[in-house]
Amino acid sequence: MPVTTPGRDTYTWRRIRAAIRTATGPCARCGRPLHPELRHPHPYSTTAGHIIAVEDAPELADDPRNVRPEHLRCNTADGAHRTNRKRRGEHNTTLITSPDWA
Ligand SMILES: [Zn+2]
Repeated sequence: MPVTTPGRDTYTWRRIRAAIRTATGPCARCGRPLHPELRHPHPYSTTAGHIIAVEDAPELADDPRNVRPEHLRCNTADGAHRTNRKRRGEHNTTLITSPDWA
């Protein structure tokens, strides 16, 4: 069991997140302006979002090229969508039926 989780609480991740929080560009998800002066947990504070989700590409979790600035609310909305898809038994978009099943 690892002590730290890439993309969540490693030293590298904390450095990426600290750099992302000073970003001034638009939110990568909604395109609206970021507000570096707002602090977590404000819904419009800036957070580091993964371009490819950690569960899809754990090896890219701590890769700065896989991280972009997003509003906290935009980031958590995506997480909720993923959770809901899982809850409905969907994973990504393709459902593969085992040939043994028929
Ligand atoms: Zn946004």
